[in-house]
Amino acid sequence: MYYIAKVDADMCAEYKCNTCTLYCPEANTLMFDKERNTSYVDVDRCKGCELCVYVCTDMLSRNCVSMLTPHELKEEQALAAQK
Ligand code: SF4
Ligand code: SF4
Repeated sequence: MYYIAKVDADMCAEYKCNTCTLYCPEANTLMFDKERNTSYVDVDRCKGCELCVYVCTDMLSRNCVSMLTPHELKEEQALAAQK
């Protein structure tokens, strides 16, 4: 696995759309949190196919999903933990 999808929760929550979760080919990988109104990724299950990026960026022009390397994802998680 070289890349893992990461949803920008703050941006995603503005849309309340849930669309990308309908397209992810992996079960229980890209899910929707109804309380926070955002989709989120199970990083251990993501296969890096980028279909969610296609849906959010190309189909919907929203740009809420990025593909990160495992190293980049760890750095983001470390930064988030400091907040
Ligand atoms: S398609 Fe984009 S805006 Fe819609 S739920 Fe997925 S990440 Fe959020
Ligand atoms: S990159 Fe593919 S497997 Fe990973 S969350 Fe997006 S659609 Fe699902």
